[in-house]
Amino acid sequence: MTLQCPDCQHQEVRNAGTSRHGHRRWACKACGRTFGDKNYRLIDSQTRERALALYAEGMSARAIERIVGVSHNSVLNWVRKEVADQALQPIPPATQQVVEIDEMWSYAGSKKDPSGSGGP
Ligand SMILES: [Zn+2]
Repeated sequence: MTLQCPDCQHQEVRNAGTSRHGHRRWACKACGRTFGDKNYRLIDSQTRERALALYAEGMSARAIERIVGVSHNSVLNWVRKEVADQALQPIPPATQQVVEIDEMWSYAGSKKDPSGSGGP
């Protein structure tokens, strides 16, 4: 059996385990793309981008399934991934603010010490 990368036509692939449906999967040694050897429909990036563009226009995932020819599950997975990538933002460290306030208070407290009471 000769396997060939669907992207770059490289013929060296490594075993990438099995998909959740039990199909064997392979990964291209040249570009790293993974693909299955049977019952797996290769979807190129153009199709994916077209599907995402249609979704952005307000089209339902099932309508995209009929027009573009990919399963609505794939479409929804892509949309979720796109949203997740954009939603990744650092969470502001709320606890740090409290610490700073605490330090300010303790600093102000130490300033209240009486001074100038002693002499030479
Ligand atoms: Zn490749």
